[in-house]
Amino acid sequence: MDNCIFCKIVNKEIPSAIVFENEDILCFKDINPVAPVHILVIPKKHLTSLNDLTEDDMAVTGRIFVLIKQLAAESGVAESGYRVVVNCGPDGGQEVGHLHYHLIGGKPLGKKIG
Ligand code: 5GP
Ligand code: ZN
Repeated sequence: MDNCIFCKIVNKEIPSAIVFENEDILCFKDINPVAPVHILVIPKKHLTSLNDLTEDDMAVTGRIFVLIKQLAAESGVAESGYRVVVNCGPDGGQEVGHLHYHLIGGKPLGKKIG
């Protein structure tokens, strides 16, 4: 997608600190981390938000969660705990219009979710 910052990161037009990449998923460090571990996991295919998901995306979204589990372990937060966040739309606080999963951990995150 033209003008999508995360598509530009996928296409290496914008640099990022990549922590994992395969054919259809990219994982990179958030540029403005809110915790010691803050990794963004995205499908390479442009989907604007969760609202764009169809059954065709079930395989990649399933793989994303297994990958998140692996990244949490590699980042050393599997046992201490972590949070996975997907913001959707304006009220959900989504700022970048390319579906992404935040993996956040490395400090106590508290109970606040809203
Ligand atoms: P949202 O609020 O849309 O759920 O989260 C967007 C996230 O993308 C934010 O945490 C923000 O720091 C991150 N972000 C925005 N632009 C860039 C960028 O160019 N590179 C990286 N690595 N992260 C970005
Ligand atoms: Zn995109």
